[in-house]
Amino acid sequence: MKPLKVADLNHPSESANSWQQLLSQAITDPAELVSALNLPPETVNGALQGHKDFSVRVPAPYLQRIRPGDLNDPLLRQVLPVSAEADNVPGYITDPLAEADSNPHDGLIHKYKGRVLIILTGACAINCRYCFRRHFPYEDNRLGPDQWQQVVDYIAADSSIKEVIFSGGDPLATNDKRLDKLISSLEAIPHLQRLRIHSRLPVVIPQRITPELSNRLASSRLQTVMVLHINHANEIDNDVATAVAQLKQSGVTVLNQAVLLRGVNDSVDALEALSETLFRAGILPYYLFTFDPVAGAAHFDIADREAQQLVSELQSRLPGYLVPKLAREIPGRASKTLLPVASTPAPAE
Ligand code: SF4
Repeated sequence: MKPLKVADLNHPSESANSWQQLLSQAITDPAELVSALNLPPETVNGALQGHKDFSVRVPAPYLQRIRPGDLNDPLLRQVLPVSAEADNVPGYITDPLAEADSNPHDGLIHKYKGRVLIILTGACAINCRYCFRRHFPYEDNRLGPDQWQQVVDYIAADSSIKEVIFSGGDPLATNDKRLDKLISSLEAIPHLQRLRIHSRLPVVIPQRITPELSNRLASSRLQTVMVLHINHANEIDNDVATAVAQLKQSGVTVLNQAVLLRGVNDSVDALEALSETLFRAGILPYYLFTFDPVAGAAHFDIADREAQQLVSELQSRLPGYLVPKLAREIPGRASKTLLPVASTPAPAE
């Protein structure tokens, strides 16, 4: 049974700014980002080049976690556009997961048995430079009332669908009122059991976990899972931990999926710190994805062999429940593909 009220929990920095204000005030100008973080002025040229294809967007709560003046900061590397994004690297394409092949209706992706993914919105609170949907045709997948009805009819007509995944963009860029309506129409489909929300908003603007949202999720007849996207331990601060506590008090299961990224988390120390910090904040490490070969982000890629070695070493340091599953998404397969990881070598006698 889910508890119904979360109003008694302290809300992160509640009075300072609403999440919508923070969203609208995000930095969207590369020169402003460079100046706000005291980066070398010449950084602006590369940032402007990368920004042409995929614009910069960094909200204040995330910006505050980046070390000023440090071009190697693992959070900065996720958001600062660079000139390498303009490189045309063979094998790196605009739709690396072939999602266009599994798009029966606008806004709906049906790849795997038993679950469907709904692109609620193309909006994000942050633009992650490695995003595999950085070229996604959001403008062709707008979910107006007619399209939403088609999606609901599609799910209602297929009783094998047990789970709906809200994705985006970031589905939590949608306001609470609209989310309430959408969730209500899904709750009316008897065979649906679970709602999964994939979001980076509680990480980059923790104020997004409003009491209204928490209470709505708590009162849903659907079991709710929130899959956060956190790649580095420094992304988790007290406000993020408070937002997660609110979700958990609402009966939401909170998991994390990360992407293995060159220069961000490509060391055993970084991965260990990530798992430990996630768990301290009440989040279970779930997946560690290898990089999807998206055009404009080849400089983040890490070979599978290196990824397998990293996770093998991680296994030797952590209990099994803190070791995320190393996986790759291969278009056309019936599920994610788990990459084999060598078992931990026995300690020397
Ligand atoms: S928040 Fe998610 S969808 Fe948006 S840019 Fe980042 S990775 Fe992509």
